[in-house]
Amino acid sequence: MSAISVKDLSVAYDRKRVLSNIFLEIEEGHRYGILGPNGSGKSTLLKAMLGLIEDYTGTVKVLGQEVKDVRKQVVYVPQRSEIDFTFPATVRDVVLMGRYPHKRVFQRLNKDDHRIADEALNELGIADLQTRQIGELSGGQQQRTFLARALAQQADILLLDEPFVGVDIPTEEKIIAVLRKLSSEGKTLMVVHHDLQAVPEYFDHVILLNQRLISYGTTEEVFTPEELKKAFGGQLALLHQAGSLVK
Ligand code: ADP
Repeated sequence: MSAISVKDLSVAYDRKRVLSNIFLEIEEGHRYGILGPNGSGKSTLLKAMLGLIEDYTGTVKVLGQEVKDVRKQVVYVPQRSEIDFTFPATVRDVVLMGRYPHKRVFQRLNKDDHRIADEALNELGIADLQTRQIGELSGGQQQRTFLARALAQQADILLLDEPFVGVDIPTEEKIIAVLRKLSSEGKTLMVVHHDLQAVPEYFDHVILLNQRLISYGTTEEVFTPEELKKAFGGQLALLHQAGSLVK
């Protein structure tokens, strides 16, 4: 069974189409990078998979079911720019939020929930920050916190929007180590990524998007100058000049 199966998905905002006729079969236990130029629909694709978009046609099945029926098994980490960091919460509060999908309304967190949160804090190397307010942290520390929340949910599928933006190098290395570990444990990861640097290191599969699906498959098959050119067109030369591109 595919982790996620997308059939003939089209999405519009204010009746303007931003994604057309997308078909995807996402295999379990892999790390997929979603690449494409700005405005190509990468974030929209993740949101559509989460059932967060109203105006769409086609079907998305997650673990063979409607996403609303498998909520616990799917975790979403939005772009940092979409998160309200003025919200008063400590790092530990945020990580514990990952346990709420497993609870009934107003049910108390128990020892196990706190143990799982501790493990996630340690895994991301932020246990010493746990009493700090999230709004006071650096970009890298905030990203580690939201990834720790995702780990604490113990979901099978993780959808991450631009986790590497605005983070320091040790955080980038930490994130990639965590993503690799998760996929080695059989979890499925889909990651929106705007830059082409380090793609083969980060992802074993690539989805190339530009309002429609340009191609998808293993990184080896898809991350080639020919395929990238189909998605990025003239921008590819710029990226190349900027030294962002391999091969
Ligand atoms: P990407 O992640 O590849 O940069 P997005 O999925 O964010 O692309 O956006 C795809 C297109 O949809 C863009 O043209 C963007 O301006 C538009 N768009 C995104 N979100 C909204 C929204 N909430 N309302 C209207 N248009 C939107």
